Amino acid sequence: MPRRRLHVDGVVQGVGFRPFVYNLAGALGLAGWVSNSSRGVFIEVEGPVGALDGFRARLEAEAPPLSRIMSVSEAAVAAQGGVGFVIRASDDAPGTATLVPADVATCADCLRELRDPADRRFGYPFTNCTSCGPRWTIIDRIPYDRPFTSMASFEMCAACRAEYEDPRDRRFHAQPNACPACGPRLRLVGEAVAAGADPVDEAARLLAAGQIAAIKGIGGFHLAVRADDEAAVARLRRRKRRQAKPLAVMAPADRVDALAAPTDAERAALAAPDAPIVLVTRRQGAPVAPSVAPRRRRLGVMLPYAPLHHLLFDALAPHGVSALVMTSGNLGDEPICLDDDEAMSRLSDIADLWLLHDRPIRRRADDSVVRVAGSGQTVLIRRSRGIAPAPIFVRGRGRGGPPVLAAGADLKNTVALLKEDRCFVSPHVGDVGDLATWDFFRETVRTLTTLLEREPEVLACDLHPGYLSSRWARQAAAERGLPLVEVQHHHAHMVAVMTEHGLEGPCLGVILDGTGSGTDGTIWGGELLVGDRAGFARVGHLSTFALPGGDAAIRHPWRTAVSCLREAYGDDAPRVPALSPYDVAGVRWMLSRGLRAPRTSSCGRLFDAVAALCGVGCEARYEAEGAIALTAATTTEAVRRAIPLAWEVSEAAGATVIDVPTLIRGVARALRGGADVATVSARFHAALIASLAEAARRAAAAHGVTRVVLGGGSLQNEHLWTLLPEALAEAGLRPHLPRALPPNDGGICVGQAVVARATL
Ligand code: ZN
Ligand code: ZN
Ligand code: FE
Repeated sequence: MPRRRLHVDGVVQGVGFRPFVYNLAGALGLAGWVSNSSRGVFIEVEGPVGALDGFRARLEAEAPPLSRIMSVSEAAVAAQGGVGFVIRASDDAPGTATLVPADVATCADCLRELRDPADRRFGYPFTNCTSCGPRWTIIDRIPYDRPFTSMASFEMCAACRAEYEDPRDRRFHAQPNACPACGPRLRLVGEAVAAGADPVDEAARLLAAGQIAAIKGIGGFHLAVRADDEAAVARLRRRKRRQAKPLAVMAPADRVDALAAPTDAERAALAAPDAPIVLVTRRQGAPVAPSVAPRRRRLGVMLPYAPLHHLLFDALAPHGVSALVMTSGNLGDEPICLDDDEAMSRLSDIADLWLLHDRPIRRRADDSVVRVAGSGQTVLIRRSRGIAPAPIFVRGRGRGGPPVLAAGADLKNTVALLKEDRCFVSPHVGDVGDLATWDFFRETVRTLTTLLEREPEVLACDLHPGYLSSRWARQAAAERGLPLVEVQHHHAHMVAVMTEHGLEGPCLGVILDGTGSGTDGTIWGGELLVGDRAGFARVGHLSTFALPGGDAAIRHPWRTAVSCLREAYGDDAPRVPALSPYDVAGVRWMLSRGLRAPRTSSCGRLFDAVAALCGVGCEARYEAEGAIALTAATTTEAVRRAIPLAWEVSEAAGATVIDVPTLIRGVARALRGGADVATVSARFHAALIASLAEAARRAAAAHGVTRVVLGGGSLQNEHLWTLLPEALAEAGLRPHLPRALPPNDGGICVGQAVVARATL
């Protein structure tokens, strides 16, 4: 009988792949074995040719839902004539890393057991199986095997071990397998906690009374408080020093409809195994305290994704609580807390009680955040728990070469390690300007290199002279004697999207962003670039305007509005009522002297200015607060139907320029004519989209390209996301949007890594 050896690569560990292979081989009467290794899964099968072919076909067609096969190679080997099929012990020879699995939300089977009084795991908060449970957050190193996870110290009882060793059991080789007899345990700490009470019931009682709980989850601690209690939510905001940024809400699937009105696609996104926060249109009169998400049309909602969450909501129901604010357990913008001692000390001034357990979390993973576009496509806003570190596969130029570590940008930082043809992207790190986040940044770099068993031979970073991430990369390159590639911010955005889509270029990049350092020393952010993975030319941009006070203008957008009015009207700017409370004359004086007012072509800052003129964002408590309010003031359909405000596109010095003063004059005129914010917003969006499409058409024609990639933080704007590609397609271009990466700076490390490879 012929014998074949197969090597399967991809997400094949921790997802029930070996039991699947075992059962498939058994069903086909094949002899042989399957084994996990750090290079993927190896299989040998022996039997009749028909059965071997069937095995090969079904291996991919019927693979477990959480697996993701990237390649299967097959070779004939000498027959051995054995009978029976076995699962061999892991061979942990070092080599090319296989993929590290992400954490998975509790599956339906485990949930059923959790609620079945006859089951031995009834009410057990650490129930999991091969289809669900923690992965990335408990792994010490690969291969993914229990001794190399934070479950190593828990010895399985006889019943758990029997499941673990039985290939027909759904817990076969479920590495975090546990039960009440042998696994991790909960404990509840807090001043008001009654001695001897059940931790979950008691936590529910105190939460219902309005207390703030620090709850140890999968990728870190959450701070929880009942979502319908304004006093409690306001207290949480005060203690956490989080002014206005929206807070996410967790609610059981059957209670979500009371809070929000999810579409079918949004419902599917909520219930997906990665269980992200989904931004869903909130329901009128929803029982959600006003300060959960002030001035937002959408609410960030997620479903319970760990058994502990399900148990907690079961215990909260009798108290009439069906939704909790669940926000990362940290102060301000610090990284999420990881271990019990850290949470007890760092959250001591915030939480009233701590729901803890003794399964250590090895690495942080904040909740992922997504939005579902009108087309049904998922837009990643934050790519983190449940998704990271899933790699982006590089095809074409930059596919092979030395390992590259890319440091990302300073805001919404993520870090990437490009190893062979896979670019592994870390979970969300955050804003590295903060000292605690800075430590997390360095920890994340170490995590990637140790887990993937590869030290970088090339470093990549942003061109920005002041970014901490760039300074780190420059210093590390100097210390280690490694080449460093500094990548222009918007080129990195562009190449990230090209990489996802396997585009090699030349392409036109339409990058609508906050701010990034340009190659000419000015601040860019509304850019048309033509180029490939190795280089680019700036072929168009928004006309520039001054940012009075530099970064201070981000927090005080009324200043940018004053500056834009001055660009549009010179010294005869009309009075705009929304700006009257502010020191307009002072800023105009500053501008006339050219004091601390760098020039920018930023799309995000243009949105800031228009929002301020409309009176919905003169001050921003977090980046783009006003821009988001301006977007929320209208709908995509209204923008589609709106008559655009005046716009103008012209050629200057070899570049296509979208004239900001024309847009600003249009806004000012509409406001003077008594138009409301909804109308101005719709007509402004329409004008910006029309001018971008026209500029893109001209630039594409001039440079002989038709493919367009879209990226940058402003693409989180749902109207731009939907309507700009439509307008580009109408102009005869072929637009590509980010899919597997966020459009914002969270995806930029991938572009940096690929540019570094392509450049060297
Ligand atoms: Zn399960
Ligand atoms: Zn057990
Ligand atoms: Fe950016």
